[in-house]
Amino acid sequence: MPQFSAFADDIAAPLLAGGFLADALRERLLIELPAAQGAALDALARAANSVRRARVGNRASLCAIISAKSGRCGENCAFCAQSGHHASQSAVHPFLPPADIAAAAATMQAAGVTRFGIVASGKALPEAEIEAAAQAVAAIAATGMAADASFGVLPADALERLQAAGLAAYHHNLETSRRHYPNICTTRTFDDNLAVLADCRRLGLPICSGGLFGLGETWEDRADLALTLLEAGAFSIPVNFLSPIPGTPLEAQPVLSRDEARRIVILLRCLLPDRHIRICGGRPTVFGPTRDNLAPLRCGADGLMVGDYLTTAGASLDNDKAGLADIGFEVGQSK
Ligand code: SF4
Repeated sequence: MPQFSAFADDIAAPLLAGGFLADALRERLLIELPAAQGAALDALARAANSVRRARVGNRASLCAIISAKSGRCGENCAFCAQSGHHASQSAVHPFLPPADIAAAAATMQAAGVTRFGIVASGKALPEAEIEAAAQAVAAIAATGMAADASFGVLPADALERLQAAGLAAYHHNLETSRRHYPNICTTRTFDDNLAVLADCRRLGLPICSGGLFGLGETWEDRADLALTLLEAGAFSIPVNFLSPIPGTPLEAQPVLSRDEARRIVILLRCLLPDRHIRICGGRPTVFGPTRDNLAPLRCGADGLMVGDYLTTAGASLDNDKAGLADIGFEVGQSK
């Protein structure tokens, strides 16, 4: 008797045994998953969720971020409100004082959040701001929270300084596949992004890197991104769903349907069975404001970004925590 469905059982078996999907099964998944609906989609979601439970457990890691430096970015990421290339509106402020960043982290820590990411707009945080960033990292690390940073394509010496200050992980999304990337950003290359991840690997700095979905990418692009992240050694995979922002080149891009977003999470769990898959921006946009927006956690994800996102509002933290407990997660453990 199948546990999920005949096909979902075929997918789950090698993953539950501690392996990865062979090429033939991956190709089958890329044919059947995009078309799966109703009971077939539910069966794949249950299978992906069983892989999550077996491989990374029932602990949901909660992270939050602060936009430590915002706006007037010289990059041209097509989805982003902060790009100076677009007609979009966003807050503009220089790098915040380290004490303000530490205070925001402490507020989140009191609410049960265990990772806190400092995010700055721009291609790379300039040398003149690295000292303030290192102070903020040290202040957060001193509280026992995992201090993460997202400062663009930093040189290796800056990464080292942040690591010495107590940086727990470096965050840098690849966003999409190598093929689709030039349709999304032309001011830096896919290889520029990979080079930062390579520096992190050399330094032994854990990598948090994922993507943004709903950019007009194909299923092949989604699978290629996942396999690139696997190869890059990312332990944590942030998954963002596009919230189209007025004034950006993607303002008219349709929002992903709930089922399409569920299929994306299932794909990622099946291709990245042992990684932490963290649902970040766009969750309320796709899934709405109620606890239904925890649906990706029933499709194989095991972490959430809580609070507000960089340029869009997030879901209620209290609702998230109660909802996670309801669906069987221990909340607030750090990974
Ligand atoms: S995503 Fe980051 S690098 Fe790209 S435009 Fe926005 S702030 Fe700049």
